[in-house]
Amino acid sequence: MSKKRIVIIGAGVSGLTTAVQLLKQKKGYHVTIAAKHFPGELTGEYTSPWAGANWRSLASITDKRQQEFDKKTLIYFFELVKAKPIEETGVMNVDGFEYWDELPGKNFIEPWFSNFCPGYRHLRKEELPDGVKFGVTFKTVTINPSVYLKFLLNTFLALGGNIERKEFLHLQDAILANTDIVINCTGLHSRTLGGVQDTNVYAVRGQTVVVELPPKHVTWTFARNQLLTDPIGTYVIPRNNGEVILGGTYIENDYTTIPDPIIAESIIRRCLTTRPDLLPVGQKELKIKRHGVGLRPVRKGGIRIEAEWINSSLDGSKRVLVCHNYGHGGYGYQSSYGAALYLIEIMEKSLNIERRKALKL
Ligand code: FAD
Repeated sequence: MSKKRIVIIGAGVSGLTTAVQLLKQKKGYHVTIAAKHFPGELTGEYTSPWAGANWRSLASITDKRQQEFDKKTLIYFFELVKAKPIEETGVMNVDGFEYWDELPGKNFIEPWFSNFCPGYRHLRKEELPDGVKFGVTFKTVTINPSVYLKFLLNTFLALGGNIERKEFLHLQDAILANTDIVINCTGLHSRTLGGVQDTNVYAVRGQTVVVELPPKHVTWTFARNQLLTDPIGTYVIPRNNGEVILGGTYIENDYTTIPDPIIAESIIRRCLTTRPDLLPVGQKELKIKRHGVGLRPVRKGGIRIEAEWINSSLDGSKRVLVCHNYGHGGYGYQSSYGAALYLIEIMEKSLNIERRKALKL
């Protein structure tokens, strides 16, 4: 039987992870990634290089699907850390901290991952930074996007995948004569891509400051849960090469990609106030490497992972399976592996149903 030909639109963390897992887990597919941007490029149109990134699940206590994605992905990252050198993957183990500015109320519910993340516990009073009323710690990972995206791309190529640089105005443009399946991983652009035009997708602007510190000086990541009305948050995410990300904003429907110097100053001040130990002893100020702005592809209703058949010829004689994997918001890395496996599962289910129909079973 000839291999099914799959075109994946998008080379962000969603497209690359899906592509690698398709070739790793399943035989019988010929996979091409076609995208406007690839790892190594920095532009406001491509979210993945701008991420922190860490695993800090935001799934609500009732969202079992998202919990499952995040859980599978953290296990995958822990295994990756054991299996491959950090220089190759950019993924490293760290201690995670969540801080709250208010004491938990009577109805406080532990985060869903309290039973799952190793080392989860409440912080003792003497471990809390000034101004912080409550906190928890757990073992987690951080990911250096530029290293990890290249690792995914190299893995994909080594497994026999193909790449092509192309911009599509419409999903139909990705359906060549011999295409069987199209997988849409266009992130924020699913809002405008013809044939998708999902108005539930919108940008949430994230501004960050990247500083340079001695490698291994920061072995922890934190996020401070402040009042929800404040669009400037406070978080720190270290990378394997001494770069440390200070964040950051979460501003809905803001598509500006130029960093705001006043916001940058505020981010630095907040991070240093929460964790003054960011500064090595004797160092007076942080060394800024660059400023960044990325647009999170948030989707009302959560990530869209669905499959649909579309006619690829006017007379309806050829049908192509279109699968979607977009709308990962601020959690595209931490859910990437679990979401990709789910996409492959529903893709194969749709193919099996069609096969059975054709055989009239
Ligand atoms: P993208 O990375 O945007 O990739 C889209 C791809 O599709 C690109 O290759 C693009 O060229 C291609 N494309 C789009 N349209 C077309 C077209 N018409 N034709 C051809 N190609 C097209 N997530 C975490 O898990 N943890 C974190 O700590 C974290 N921190 C973040 C911090 C910031 C400041 C930001 C901005 C994001 C953060 N995120 C984090 C979120 C994460 O970065 C995103 O969820 C993720 O990168 C989305 O990836 P994607 O592959 O879906 O989209």
